Order: sequence, then C-alpha cells, then structure tokens
Amino acid sequence: MESSIEKVIKCQFCGQEVSIEEAYTWFGAKVCEDCYIERSSPVRLCNPWAVYSAKHTLKAYGVKAEEVLTEKQRKIYNIVKARGKITLDELLEELKVPKSELESHIAIMRYLELVIEQIEKGKIVIAPLKK
Ligand SMILES: [Zn+2]
Repeated sequence: MESSIEKVIKCQFCGQEVSIEEAYTWFGAKVCEDCYIERSSPVRLCNPWAVYSAKHTLKAYGVKAEEVLTEKQRKIYNIVKARGKITLDELLEELKVPKSELESHIAIMRYLELVIEQIEKGKIVIAPLKK
C-alpha cells in the first residue's frame, strides 16, 4: 500500500505541502525549497540596490544601520524592539500593509542585521537582533 500521506509535510513558512524527501530544514523548521532558498540567501531581495547603497553608506560614513531605514522600516523596527518579539501576523495586523511589502522590509532589516526571523510554535516570529 502507498503511504504517501505520511511522507508529506507542510512548509512552516508558506504552508505549501512538500514531500519529506524534498523538504529542507531551516533552523529546525521543515520548509519547502522556495522558502529555504529565500531565507538562506541574504541578497535575494526586491531591491538589491537599496540594500547595497544602505550597506555602503553604513561603511563609508560609519552610521548605524538604524539610521538608513525608511520611515516605514523604522516604524517596524520600533514595534519589534518594543515587543521584544512579534509574529509576522501581528505585525501585519498592526501595520496594515501587504504581506509582500512587509516581507521585503523585513528582508532588508535582516540584511542590515537589525532583526532575525525565527519559527516559534509554527509561527514566524520577528525579533531584534542583539549585538
Ligand atoms: Zn514554503
């Protein structure tokens, strides 16, 4: 008998069903290939130039990563810092922005090493990165 049902897991980021053989492990979470690649490659962003220039500015002028954030990113960062950690869903609720937009802001902030993305109890959690 086929027992394929047991071999399928749900990606903890996007919820897509993937077979166990094709699943990746990302910080202990089972994720699909797309999410794994997206999370493990820090430069795959909507606007790599913005990130490049931000990092360049940081190095050239010795400014803090926080200072190159856009107004919206600063707002997100302030919420994350104030809460200690917050789920992606709670952030979406609070900011009322499209998920794709929020994810690209968070990707930039991860790249600037201001926040980290973790999975807790099956939920995506954003926390400030302590230095
Ligand atoms: Zn996925």
